[in-house]
Amino acid sequence: MQTFAIGVDLGGTTLRIAAVDETGKLLEKQTLGTEVKRGRDSGIRDMCVAIEQVRAKYKDAGTLCGIGIGVPGFIDMATGMVMRSPNLADWTNFPVREVIEKQLGTPVILENDANVAAMGEKWLGAGRGVEHMCMYTLGTGVGGGLVVHGRLWHGMTGMAGELGHFNIFPDGHPCGCGSRGCLEQYASATAIVRMAREAIEKKEASAELVRLMPDPVQFTSRSIYNLAVQGDASAKRIFEMVGFALGIGIGGMVNALNLPMYVIGGGVASSWDAFAPAMFKEMKVRSSIYALTSPEQKDFAQSTIITRALLGSDAGLYGAARLPMLEGFTQMEKARKSN
Ligand SMILES: [Zn+2]
Repeated sequence: MQTFAIGVDLGGTTLRIAAVDETGKLLEKQTLGTEVKRGRDSGIRDMCVAIEQVRAKYKDAGTLCGIGIGVPGFIDMATGMVMRSPNLADWTNFPVREVIEKQLGTPVILENDANVAAMGEKWLGAGRGVEHMCMYTLGTGVGGGLVVHGRLWHGMTGMAGELGHFNIFPDGHPCGCGSRGCLEQYASATAIVRMAREAIEKKEASAELVRLMPDPVQFTSRSIYNLAVQGDASAKRIFEMVGFALGIGIGGMVNALNLPMYVIGGGVASSWDAFAPAMFKEMKVRSSIYALTSPEQKDFAQSTIITRALLGSDAGLYGAARLPMLEGFTQMEKARKSN
């Protein structure tokens, strides 16, 4: 009989649920819309109904080792409270874990969405071969997650890994977190569109870029990227800024932690070829440790690898499912030691 776990990834617009076995095989995946506008209670109820359905379906097929749920926001790991969530406003200061556990009648593991993505990439993606890694998720915002010795690094309260709020420019663009000049303000999809708008306002944009702006459906980080690939100088400059900011941010992490791998995922990661050259260039300037340990150097057995994520939007689902499995291993280790 197989052992499997249920992973849930709750985003601002979609709720996704998967059943994954302990070898990483996907047994089932469902995508549901989250009607954030209908509010927290109906969102949690929809989630619990969907989890119940998956649980019932695989009841006889294997042993459920647990349920992991990734949600956007700062989570107090001790209490399971969401302290602040930018995309789910009414989840703030709400005991999410307790409410879900009451509805399901079973314990669940609640985790930050960027952390579960990092765990997914560690388990089955780019980070498979390393024990320590750091992941950046470049989406609407910039999320971060740290994996140390194969486990998520939570810090004191569970809020570690907020790499999107690493400061790049002390007096830079105001950030939703209350600070200014955070990485998120230069390397997210939202920031790319804002920087394009700023270029247009300053009359530094090409006619093609100006033409995109009136239609919000067209004026996206993806279409700006397409212009950059076609050689549009003003669009290229925007992605050079993305790379510059990432180079400072990741360079700082390399200096602090000297980890073997830094993984970049999220929708903006698909613009890799437009921002990566500026990122690598800046990393060598900002981090002499990176300059010494980059893959071109052969002085050490291992290099510092900066690479793209492999699992796409499924990283969070796999990572969420992995958490109860790891919890099970921890308990087994503890039991073995106490015997
Ligand atoms: Zn910030």
